[in-house]
Amino acid sequence: MKIEEVQSTTKKQRIATHTHIKGLGLEASGRALPMSAGFVGQVDAREAAGLVVDMIRQKKMAGRALLFAGPPSTGKTALALGISQELGSKVPFCPMVGSEVYSSEVKKTEVLMENFRRSIGLRIKENKEVYEGEVTELSPEETGSTTGGYGKSISHVIIGLKTVKGTKQLKLDPTIYDALIKEKVAVGDVIYIEANSGAVKRVGRSDAFATEFDLEAEEYVPLPKGEVHKKKEIVQDVTLHDLDAANARPQGGQDILSLMGQMMKPRKTEITDKLRQEINKVVNRYIDEGVAELVPGVLFIDEVHMLDMECFSYLNRALESSLSPIVIFATNRGICNVRGTDMNSPHGIPVDLLDRLVIVRTETYGLTEMIQILAIRAQVEELVIDEESLAYLGEIGQRASLRHAVQLLSPASIVSRTNGREKICKADIEEVAALYLDAKSSARLLQEQQERYIA
Ligand code: ATP
Repeated sequence: MKIEEVQSTTKKQRIATHTHIKGLGLEASGRALPMSAGFVGQVDAREAAGLVVDMIRQKKMAGRALLFAGPPSTGKTALALGISQELGSKVPFCPMVGSEVYSSEVKKTEVLMENFRRSIGLRIKENKEVYEGEVTELSPEETGSTTGGYGKSISHVIIGLKTVKGTKQLKLDPTIYDALIKEKVAVGDVIYIEANSGAVKRVGRSDAFATEFDLEAEEYVPLPKGEVHKKKEIVQDVTLHDLDAANARPQGGQDILSLMGQMMKPRKTEITDKLRQEINKVVNRYIDEGVAELVPGVLFIDEVHMLDMECFSYLNRALESSLSPIVIFATNRGICNVRGTDMNSPHGIPVDLLDRLVIVRTETYGLTEMIQILAIRAQVEELVIDEESLAYLGEIGQRASLRHAVQLLSPASIVSRTNGREKICKADIEEVAALYLDAKSSARLLQEQQERYIA
């Protein structure tokens, strides 16, 4: 089992529209500032979310979850993201939509499990060290046996290294010897050795070192000559799902056809329960050894009413687990059917799960707040827009939704540039507003022109 460097697979595109959100924007007293950390208004919900952050820190949310209930585009996703940011900068945030569980390929509970593991982070700490010294001895030790007429193979290499703290004798792996030969290292040369928590990783000659070891990289401390240098602690943040995915081995042969077959299959099918258990074992060992620590993140499930009874009972159990992230649900529904049953319940959530929830309401924004939010979005998207257009866009937001108004910003900027202008003006907004319908107008048009559509 290996834990290798992997790119985090957080669903980046889903949080792209929330890049301006940097936290909940609360004072130390817990009071929400009218405009702070990218947040505008929604003061009560932000303060309530702040209290939840305190409860999470005091470990009082175990087995419970949070529900944001409110109309579309009232900042439910933004609030959940804000909570994860308040918990720490490297805390995983995994957004999903209830309907995602309905896939023809993967079981519903499997989708939930994967997202749970995307929301649990692991912080791995390594102590990397770099030694610099002059080679005083370079002696490959041979094994007793000969290998197929090619002479004896090397079992290890002894290197004497003179540093300011005296001469050290290091016993290194034969692969290091190959690297030394390639670098033409000889006695008298100054070399660098990089070790990772005691184990030698790489060796290089001093002149080649700067590029090979990427000395410009931030994590390296500058190396004055002739000393034993220690490098800072390297911290790597991954999620349990990153580890699952990186260690999922393709099944089948190595021929080209089966490799292609692997590409067609979704990666998800490769992660088995057995693999997850193996990963858990390694992770637990790392935690016991103090090499790694768990960082529970935030799993955000939007449109929770789309989940069905099977999902809800899975969630009920999962919330009890010691390996649970903070689960935040969101819905814009009132009393509705619990999928997979003939019961009605508030927000389409069964009562036993409702019992575990802290419920926070979000309210629709007024015109001034919408304009302020739109101005922030224009700024982060580096768009120049005049006051009149912002006000007009605000009105569109009031009529349709904030999301719709935010989404009109980019096309409007394209239109203005096509017209040879740097600044978005009202005419550009009018043009794109006529091109793109919001959900409400689309529904109204469908109703009005019913006879023209196939029923
Ligand atoms: P839905 O019900 O459709 O899931 P939502 O309630 O999750 O919507 P968001 O997606 O969070 O709403 O909000 C829409 C857009 O407005 C996003 O770009 C979000 O970052 C921004 N936004 C919402 N509320 C605020 C706020 N109070 N301050 C700043 N930006 C906000």
